Amino acid sequence: MTPHAIIPITPAVADGPSLHLPSLPKGDFYRFHAMVKPSGSQCNLDCTYCFYLHKEDLLQQPKKSRMSEALLAQHIRQYIEAHTGPEVVFSWQGGEPTLMGLDFFERVIALQTRYKKPGQAIENDLQTNGILLDDAWCRFLKQNKFLVGLSIDGPAVLHDEYRYSKGGTPSFERVMAAVALLHQYQVPFGALCVVNRKNAKRPTDVYRFLRDQVRPRIIQFIPCVEPVNFHAVAPGHWDSASLPLLGSAQAAPGSADSVVTDWSVAAEDWGYFLGRIWDEWLRRDYGKVFVDQFENVISQMFGHGAQKCVSSQICGKALALEHNGDLYSCDHFVYPEYKLGNILQTHEGDLAFSEQQKQFAFAKSDALPRYCKACSYLDLCWGECPKSRFLKTPDGEAGLNYLCTGLKQFYAKATSARAELARRLGASR
Ligand code: SF4
Ligand code: SF4
Repeated sequence: MTPHAIIPITPAVADGPSLHLPSLPKGDFYRFHAMVKPSGSQCNLDCTYCFYLHKEDLLQQPKKSRMSEALLAQHIRQYIEAHTGPEVVFSWQGGEPTLMGLDFFERVIALQTRYKKPGQAIENDLQTNGILLDDAWCRFLKQNKFLVGLSIDGPAVLHDEYRYSKGGTPSFERVMAAVALLHQYQVPFGALCVVNRKNAKRPTDVYRFLRDQVRPRIIQFIPCVEPVNFHAVAPGHWDSASLPLLGSAQAAPGSADSVVTDWSVAAEDWGYFLGRIWDEWLRRDYGKVFVDQFENVISQMFGHGAQKCVSSQICGKALALEHNGDLYSCDHFVYPEYKLGNILQTHEGDLAFSEQQKQFAFAKSDALPRYCKACSYLDLCWGECPKSRFLKTPDGEAGLNYLCTGLKQFYAKATSARAELARRLGASR
C-alpha cells in the first residue's frame, strides 16, 4: 500500500461511539497520550526484566494478538477527535510494535491523514528493540517523521545481561546494526536505557557508551523496579501489612525475602548512577547532550514545571491502549483493576477524562505518606511513580516509593548545583 492512500471508512468506524466531552473555555485544550500496543505483549525478544511479556497470561491474550484494521481506524478517529489542541502525538509500543509489519504503519499514516483536523499537527513515535529495523523501515520512519525510542542498556556486556531472544541469543549486535541504520537514514531517535541491578554499578561506562557510540538525540534512563509478585498483583493492591520498611534487607534486591526481583535496581544504586552521570554531564556535556531526567529536574528547579509524569504532582495523561481496544490508566497499570473501558463501546476521549481516570491522576499526590509530604524534595519528586510505592516509611506508614533513598541522593546532587545552573541559564538568555 502507498502512504496516504484513501482508506474506505468501514461500517465499524462510522458506527463507533461518539464523544460527549463538554467544550472547554477558550485557550484550554483536551490533550492526553495513549501508548498503543498493536501486537499486545508479543515480542521477538525475551528480556528478563520485561514487565509486559506476562500480560499474555494476566489479560488472557491470544498467542498472536494483533490490532484489527477496524479497531485501528476507531482509535485514530477517536484519538484525533478527542484532542482539541494544535498537535496530536501517537505512540506505538509493545510488546514489539514492528511485529505488525510496515503495511500496518502505512495504514496508520493514511488514516491519520484522513481524520486530521485542519491546522492540527500529527506526530508519531515508535518504541522498539530495533531487531526488525531495516532499510525499508528506516526509509518509512524518516519519510513520515517518526521519532524512534530504541531500547539499549549500555555496551555489549551490560546490554546482553538481560536483553536476549527466546533462544537465549544476545541482541546487542542487532541493536547496534539498527543504530547504524537509523544514523544512515537520519531518523531521529532516543535511547531508552533500563537501569538494572548490573548496569547501575557502571554509570559512566553506560553514559559514555550511549553518548559516544550510540549518539541519540535524547537519553532516557528508566529504573527497573519490579515487585516479585508483579505478574499477578496490581500496583496499589499490595498487602500493606507485609510491605517492608525503608532501609530493610527486604527492600533491596538480592536477599532471599526481597520484595523485588533480582534484576531490579537497588535504590542507592539509582541515586549513585544518576549522580555520577550528572557530574560528568554538568562538567562536560551541559547544553550538548539531552538527558531527560536532568532537563526535567532543571525545568522544575527553575519554575518551568515537570516534563515527566513521574515527577509531576498529578499524572494520568499517559494511558495504554491494548490491541483489542481495552484502555488502561497507564502503561504500568495494565491490570484488570485499572481498565477504564473499551473504545469500541465508549469513546476514547470520554474514557481518558472519566471520573475513574481523574481519581487515578490525583491519587499520585493525594495518597502520599506523611514522610513524603514533609520531604524537602517534595516539589521535585511527588513520590515518583505510584507503581513503585511498596515500602513503609520509618514510622510504619505504607505507600513510600522503593527508590526514595536514591531519589534523595539525586535531588541533593541536583539542588546543590542550583547557583551554578542559575549562572549558566542566565548567561544563555
Ligand atoms: S502511574 Fe507512573 S508512569 Fe503512569 S502516568 Fe503516573 S507517574 Fe507516570
Ligand atoms: S524523595 Fe522520598 S520522601 Fe521525598 S518525596 Fe520522593 S519518595 Fe517521598
